[in-house]
Amino acid sequence: MNPRLPRRAALAAALAAPSPPKAQGTRPSVVASFSILGDMVRQIAGDGAALRVLAGSDTDAHAFQPRPSDAEAVRGAAVVVRNGLGFEPWLDRLLRSAGHRGAVVTASEGVQTIRAPHGHGADAPDPHAWQDAGRARIYAANIGEGLAKGDPPRAEAWREAAAAYGARLEALDRHVRDRIAEVPPERRIVVTSHDSFGYFGAAYRVRFLAPQGIGAGAQPSAAQVAALIRQIRAERVSAVFLDGPGSQTVMERLAREAGVRPRGRLYADTLSAPDGPAPDYEAMQRHNVDLLVAAMRDAAA
Ligand SMILES: [Zn+2]
Repeated sequence: MNPRLPRRAALAAALAAPSPPKAQGTRPSVVASFSILGDMVRQIAGDGAALRVLAGSDTDAHAFQPRPSDAEAVRGAAVVVRNGLGFEPWLDRLLRSAGHRGAVVTASEGVQTIRAPHGHGADAPDPHAWQDAGRARIYAANIGEGLAKGDPPRAEAWREAAAAYGARLEALDRHVRDRIAEVPPERRIVVTSHDSFGYFGAAYRVRFLAPQGIGAGAQPSAAQVAALIRQIRAERVSAVFLDGPGSQTVMERLAREAGVRPRGRLYADTLSAPDGPAPDYEAMQRHNVDLLVAAMRDAAA
C-alpha cells in the first residue's frame, strides 16, 4: 500500500479492489428506473451488465413519462430495478404493458421506512430512502441479489461485487455523519424546495423544512410564504436550498424576504450530468453534505 495515501483514500482503494464480474458471453440486460439506482447498478456491475436507465440525470423521476423505446427495453430486460415505496407509479403500468417476464428488484425492500411528508400522499411511506447512506447499503444488497437472480451462473460474483460497494457506502455513511457532527445540533435547520430529505434528516439529525407549494412548478400562496418567513426567523433557520428545477424564483424570494442566503442546489431525486457536482450517488452525498455543512456553519458563526 502506498504510505503517502491518506487513510481514507487507502481504504477506498482497498475496497474498490475487487473488480466487478467480467462479462462472459452475454451480459444480463438491466433496466433501472432512475439515475440514482442506475448508478448503484453501474457501481456494482461495471460493464458486466448492459444497463439502461429510464429517468436519467436531471429528470424528475416522480413524473417520468416512458417512451416506446423504454417499453422495448423493459420487455427484454433480465432484471428491472425500481425504488418502490410508490416512487415510480408509472413503472408498474410499464411492466404490465411491456409484458416483462424477468426479475424485478425493489431496491428499498427491507428498509425501515418513515412516513411521507406532505405532498407525497398522506400516511404513505416516504420513498426517498436512498438519502440515508446506511439504508442505501440495503439497496446495494438487494441489487446484488437481483443480479444474482437474473444471471445465476455468476450469482456469487454479483453478491461479492454488491458487498464491496456496500462497504464503500458504509464509509460514506460515516463520512456524512462526521461532517454533520461539525455543526451544533440546534443549528441544523434548513429549508429545501422539495421534501426529499426525511431519511437524511432522521439518520443524520438535520431538520429540513420543506413548505407545501414550494416544489417544482407550484406557486405557494402569499399566506404560505408569510408563514414560512415567520418560521425561518423564529427558528433561526440557517439556509434555503434549491433541490429541483423550477423552484428557483420562489426560493430566491424567500431567501430575500426572510434574510437568509440561497445556498445552491442539493441533489435529491436525480444525479447531475456527468460534468456536474453529483454525477454518481457517492459524489451526490458528498456534494450535499458539503453544501449543508458550509451553510449551517456560516449561520452558527
Ligand atoms: Zn421526490
